[in-house]
Amino acid sequence: MSQLRAAAARGLQRSRAVRSPGRSRKGAAPRGGDPAPAPAQPPAQHLFSDAAEIEAVRRNLLTWYDKCKRDLPWRTLAASEPDVDRRAYAVWVSEIMLQQTQVATVIDYYNRWMQKWPTLQALAEASLEEVNELWAGLGYYSRGKRLQEAARKVVSELAGRMPRTAEDLQKLLPGVGRYTAGAIASISYGQATGVVDGNVIRVLCRLRCIGADSSSPAVIDRLWDMANALVDRSRPGDFNQALMELGATVCVPKAPLCEECPVKQHCRARRRVEKELGLASRRLLGTCPPVPDVEDCGVGGCPLCPPATEPWDSSLGVTNFPRKAAKKQPRAARTAACVLERRGRRGAPEYLIVQRPSSGLLAGLWEFPSLPLALGLQEEKQRELLADHLQAWTGRPVAAGGLRYVGEVIHIFSHIHQTYVVYSLPVDGDVTLDPVSSPSRWVTEEEFHASAVSTAMKKVLKACEKQRGEQNGSGKVSKRKRGAKPGGAGSRPTGTQLSLHAFFRTPSPQ
Ligand code: SF4
Repeated sequence: MSQLRAAAARGLQRSRAVRSPGRSRKGAAPRGGDPAPAPAQPPAQHLFSDAAEIEAVRRNLLTWYDKCKRDLPWRTLAASEPDVDRRAYAVWVSEIMLQQTQVATVIDYYNRWMQKWPTLQALAEASLEEVNELWAGLGYYSRGKRLQEAARKVVSELAGRMPRTAEDLQKLLPGVGRYTAGAIASISYGQATGVVDGNVIRVLCRLRCIGADSSSPAVIDRLWDMANALVDRSRPGDFNQALMELGATVCVPKAPLCEECPVKQHCRARRRVEKELGLASRRLLGTCPPVPDVEDCGVGGCPLCPPATEPWDSSLGVTNFPRKAAKKQPRAARTAACVLERRGRRGAPEYLIVQRPSSGLLAGLWEFPSLPLALGLQEEKQRELLADHLQAWTGRPVAAGGLRYVGEVIHIFSHIHQTYVVYSLPVDGDVTLDPVSSPSRWVTEEEFHASAVSTAMKKVLKACEKQRGEQNGSGKVSKRKRGAKPGGAGSRPTGTQLSLHAFFRTPSPQ
């Protein structure tokens, strides 16, 4: 669901940027003074144009929602919070967290967030470090940062009062797009405005047999029109949540539960499946000649039908809809990461972490000292570069041979296939990094997990601990990943702790 919602958001951004002139420049006439041509109306099968049907969809969906909706903390808050700004804030936080993340994961984060910062004012007073710490593990960290920036803006520039319409929310709050603005306004203020996220895209495309690329601006525009036409005027927030809930629990991507669907009698994808099945049986019985594709609007002529190159596939049933252009493959990246470890005061291990820059990927988060690598480097070269990097950082020579190879850890960010080449370096004393390069600190394992560190860094530490467990003969960690080479070239004998002298060796005369 979260990825679909993100895809919708991306599509919506494009949608705003590439509208047809007739839509984006309302009332404007083309050069020469001729009136702007009215946008072509799509064929009826892709629309909700019958008032009685719209009423029936609203009624059926809301009745189902009242009976079947999941109990979620943000819904409880939105229903019980009398203060309109606090209510809008509660919905806003949930919508931002849900943009890229599954409901089940968000619940715990949401509860902790609202407990810590129950109001906009409380959030505005928090530090980015605190925000990142609470957000750690939720991914897409810029969301938390932007949420806090926007809260500060509401407090400092809008006297603590949330904008009261979807239009103003989108215009005035950084990080609030059309979807989030519509969700806040409909759920918190009762504004009759629709929403389009990944779940809504799927449900509407199936209800109206829309098979053109569902991330294209033309289709997204149509879906917004449809969502705005459908939204219930007296219960817009519940209607929008019902539509999204239907997509999340019934009209799911791979195996929709059509028999349980409250709007199945209005679903054209389902009707088409039934029709195709009927035709197939008649053909088998020889009572019906092969027929052309009766449900599409015309070969290649309709902007909302599946493209002629990808016709209806009977094996897919209703999941013929929606369709998306092939996803761009994430780019590959490699980074060397070094876990510097020492014995703490009570004998427990401590790790050195450094803070990332305040902008860009994983802004402001903490990580093990890391260095981006060019693709295709030999292991030996990677080790040398990392040693040089640490040397530049500490201002002292570092022996490349002292770095112990742990293995590779893979983490997929939305657009990056990231491989961390992990090394460890036990040291027996303090290491001071140049404070000008990055803030750094030593942390225990517990402090590490409570810090603003990414999931990728947690995986890196786990790989090191696994290697240590293997080297100590612990049976718990015997499953070694293929490709990981603990104790590879340059590693020290098992359990050896390097002294600082070994780590920072004196350069030999040339
Ligand atoms: Fe989705 Fe099936 Fe309902 Fe149609 S009938 S909206 S495909 S669940």
